[in-house]
Amino acid sequence: MGCKHMVKVVKFGGSSLADANQFRKVADIIKSDPDRRYAVASAPGKRDSRDEKVTDMLLQCFRLACDKRDISGTFDKIAARYNGIIKDLGLDFSLDEDLEGIKVAISHHASRDYIASRGEYLNAKILANFLGYPFIDAEDCIFFDENGTLDSKKTDKKMSAVLSLHEYAVLPGFYGAMPNGTIRTFSRGGSDITGSIVAKAIGADLYENWTDVSGMLMADPRLIKDPLSIPEITYKELRELSYMGATVLHEDAIFPVRKAKIPINIRNTNDPAAPGTMIVDKASSNVVETVITGVAGKKGITSIHVEKDMMNSEVGFGRKVLEVLENHNISFEHLPSGIDTMSVLVSSAAIEECKGSITAEMVKAVDPDSITIMENLCLIAVVGRGMVSTEGVAARIFTALANAHINIRMIDQGSSELNIIVAVEEHDYQKTLEAIYHEFVK
Ligand code: ADP
Ligand code: ASP
Ligand code: MG
Repeated sequence: MGCKHMVKVVKFGGSSLADANQFRKVADIIKSDPDRRYAVASAPGKRDSRDEKVTDMLLQCFRLACDKRDISGTFDKIAARYNGIIKDLGLDFSLDEDLEGIKVAISHHASRDYIASRGEYLNAKILANFLGYPFIDAEDCIFFDENGTLDSKKTDKKMSAVLSLHEYAVLPGFYGAMPNGTIRTFSRGGSDITGSIVAKAIGADLYENWTDVSGMLMADPRLIKDPLSIPEITYKELRELSYMGATVLHEDAIFPVRKAKIPINIRNTNDPAAPGTMIVDKASSNVVETVITGVAGKKGITSIHVEKDMMNSEVGFGRKVLEVLENHNISFEHLPSGIDTMSVLVSSAAIEECKGSITAEMVKAVDPDSITIMENLCLIAVVGRGMVSTEGVAARIFTALANAHINIRMIDQGSSELNIIVAVEEHDYQKTLEAIYHEFVK
C-alpha cells in the first residue's frame, strides 16, 4: 500500500486489457493500492501473436466503409471481443446500444478518428463497470485546438475540475475533442499520452504505465533475447530511445508530465511484483553500471548527400538545401556535415513520392558538384547519461561494429552527449543492435 495522500494515475495498455483474465489482473492491481485513483484504458490488444488489435479492426471497418463495402464481418468480430469480455467477467451490463450506434455511424461514414477511438471508449466502459467506478469520457475533458494540437490549458482546467468531483474514475485513452466537438485521436499508441495528461492535470504523484514487459528494457525484446530492464532513466534519455523506436511508451507521452516533474513508472501487468522502470527528471546517479542506458533503432531512412567545394564558406547553403525539404513539408532526422559535404537524413516514406523533384530543386537551389541518394539505411541510437563521464564509449561502439564487419555510413554524436547515432545499411540492422548491446552487456 502506498502512503495516504498519494495520487497515482494508472494506464493499462492493450495487452493488459485484451481479455477477461487480463481485466481481472488489472482490477487486482488497481484495488491493491487505494492511491491508484484514476485509470486510463486502451482498446483490447492482441491475446496472442496471431490475434488482431481492436483498433486495427476498427480502422479496417473505416476502410471498408470508404470503399462502400460491407463491414458486418469485421464489426461482428469487434462486438464479439467486447461481449466475450463482459460475459467472461459475469457482468450485468450491456454495450449493445453503443455497438449498434457505432455500427450505424461507421456505415454512415463517420470520421476515421471517431471510429478508431471507439476501441478505448467501449473498453473503458467495461473497466468502469467491473471496478464500480464512474466512466468519464475523454471527449469531455481533453481538447485540441483548430490545428489539432492539444490545448493543454483548456484540458488541464476541465480535466482537474471533472476529476475533483470523483475519488476514483476510469477514462478512455487515445482521444479528445476538436473545438467543434468532433473526435480526434492522438497517433497510434496515444493512450500513453492520455495517462500523462490526466496525471499532469490532477498533479499526480506518480503515473504508472502498465504494459506487457517489466519496464523499459535496454533493447527491443523482439530483437535482442532477454534484454536487461532499465531500473531508472531520465525523461531525456527516454525521449531519445522512444523517438528512435523503443516504442514501449509513446514518444510524446513524457511532455505533459515532464514540466511538473511527475515520474512515470513502467510496470508489467503480468508480473506486478517487478519494480519496472522509473522515468525521472533527474536520475539518482549518473553512474550507470552498463555505461549505456539503452540502444534502439529505426529502419526506412534515406540519406541525401550533397557535395560542393567550398560549401562551408557559402553563406546560406544549408538553409537553401533545407528549404527544398521545407517546401515539400518534410522534416529531417539528422544533418551530419563536413567542410565540403552535407548529408540530410530523412524518412524514406516521407520522400518516396517526391525524390526526383527534391534532387532537381536542390540542384537548382545550390548548384552542387554532386547529389547522391542512399536508400535502405537505418539509424541506431546508443543512449546514456553515463556516457559523458566515461572515456572510450565511442571507441567501444566502433570497434564492436568493426569486429562484426559492419560498415558505418554516418556517425552523429548529439550535442547533449547523451547519445551516439550511427547509420548503417538496413540488412545490418539486427547485427548492429546485437554488437552494441553485447559490447556493453556481457
Ligand atoms: P501497450 O499495449 O501496453 O501500450 P506496447 O505494445 O505499446 O504496449 O509497448 C510494449 C512493447 O514495446 C513490448 O511488448 C515490446 O515488444 C516493445 N518494445 C520495444 N522496445 C522496447 C524496449 N526497449 N523496452 C521494452 N519494450 C520494448
Ligand atoms: N488503441 C490505440 C492503438 O492501438 C492506442 C493505444 O493503444 O495506445 O494505437
Ligand atoms: Mg503502447
